[in-house]
Amino acid sequence: MTEGVAAVGEWLRECAREFDERLEELNELDRVLGDGDHGTNMRRGFAAAESLDLTEASRAFEALRQVGMALVSNVGGASGPLFGTFLLRAGANWPPTPTTAGIAVAVREGLRGVVARGKAEPGDKTMVDALTPATESLEASARENEPLGEALEKAADAAERGRDATAGMVARRGRAHLRAAESVGVLDPGAVSMSIILRTAAQHIS
Ligand code: ADP
Ligand code: MG
Ligand code: MG
Repeated sequence: MTEGVAAVGEWLRECAREFDERLEELNELDRVLGDGDHGTNMRRGFAAAESLDLTEASRAFEALRQVGMALVSNVGGASGPLFGTFLLRAGANWPPTPTTAGIAVAVREGLRGVVARGKAEPGDKTMVDALTPATESLEASARENEPLGEALEKAADAAERGRDATAGMVARRGRAHLRAAESVGVLDPGAVSMSIILRTAAQHIS
């Protein structure tokens, strides 16, 4: 159990490092599509991961809740509450022992939370375009009884393909839809962030 908590904490801290390093890249994408603050928003929310206490006999969901709450409460804009909801809902459904089937359920619940809150559909050029194929990939891996490490690698690959596909899409949600025409040819920053979250999960959780 402690091992599971530490892995989730390490995952969230790695996200914090990645969002710190990729601040400018994410702001730049959002400068084309929105108001240029997406990297700043993600960095602010995930900074909460730096103060996670991984030594207490806490559970993985506590770590996810702490960072999820920081995203919901401290980050203005569309993405904080949406990424926060993803972590909160995934955390609330996190399996006591990480298995492919258990994580697939947690991630599906996280996606449900994002869609309930943001109403985006696949093809709208949002984080949902990275998260949906990753969720489907995890569910397929669960049906095939694939080991968790392999399943998460495949899910991250699927998220990155979904992220890349957002370049060809016209934005229909959030601020970016106001610049629908200019949005074609540019990756959606939220889809890039969701891919970062899933790639780091593959590196830390197994
Ligand atoms: P804001 O647009 O408020 O400045 P950010 O720039 O941090 O917030 O986040 C923008 C990202 O949020 C987009 O790239 C997109 O992926 C995501 N997003 C915006 N609206 C929605 C929505 N309704 N559903 C899902 N994701 C959304
Ligand atoms: Mg923005
Ligand atoms: Mg903003």
